[in-house]
Parts: sequence; C-alpha cells; structure tokens
Amino acid sequence: MAIRNIRIEGDPILRKKSKEIKMIDEKIIQLAQDMIETMRSAKGLGLAAPQVGILKRIIVLEEEDNPTIAINPKIIHSEGEITDIEGCLSIPGYSGYVKRAEKIVVEYIDENNNNIKREVSGYLARAFMHEIDHLDGILYIDKAEKIYKDTEDEVGV
Ligand SMILES: [Zn+2]
Repeated sequence: MAIRNIRIEGDPILRKKSKEIKMIDEKIIQLAQDMIETMRSAKGLGLAAPQVGILKRIIVLEEEDNPTIAINPKIIHSEGEITDIEGCLSIPGYSGYVKRAEKIVVEYIDENNNNIKREVSGYLARAFMHEIDHLDGILYIDKAEKIYKDTEDEVGV
C-alpha cells in the first residue's frame, strides 16, 4: 500500500468526470487500498479517486472503523433534506454548510464484485453524496450555503 498525493482545489482534474470501471482487477484493488491508506493518513472520512488524480468511479468511506469500497456508486433514491457541515481533503482549512438529502438508497459494486444496494442516512449518506459528487467534478463549495475558515475551536470534517 502507498499513500498518494491528494489533489487540492484549483487542480483541473478535480473538475473532470470520472469513468465507469468495467473490470475489478488487481490495479483497482491496489488503488482502493492506497486510497484507504491516504484517507486515513489525512484523517479523512472519505476519498474519491479523482482526489488522488485517477478519473475512475471509485470511492472509499470510513464506516465505524471499517473502510467501505464502492465502485461505480449510484444514488437511486433520495428523500428529505438536511443542512449540515462538511469539509473536504482537497479544500484544507475550510468547512461549509451544505443542504443534502437526509436519506438515500445507494447502489455500488464492492471489492469482491458483489452488487450492493443499501439505504443509508445521517453522516454516511452525506459522505456518499459528497464523494459521488467528486466523480462528476463537483465540489461541496459549489453547493455550500456558507463557507468559513476553520479555527482551532471549530472542528473540520
Ligand atoms: Zn471531498
């Protein structure tokens, strides 16, 4: 495993659309493992492949200390609306309030080639939506109602 460089806002790759993954091979598994290591070393809760310069539809999320790997993730249903705080490893030092769905149904392929369909809510739903946005070149600052600089007593996410 290896820690990869996280691309920072202003890097044009963060604004590009990622491609569907056709086959889950060793290279994809290696990428996923590197992404998990990179996310953890940066103390993040999620990471999308474009953030490490790879335009492929794969995201990783920290879920109760277990990493989730989601390949070709798609939101197939969403409901409710909630505004909450979020941050991004590609926009260090800032946080913002973003309105998103409260509950979603997400579909993806896991690292063992299983088709997964799950209903998620709360922070995890927000994390899925944030990371899937990255795959379409969208950053949370495009949607935020208010963005502010983190100070020592405001915790970034
Ligand atoms: Zn992000």
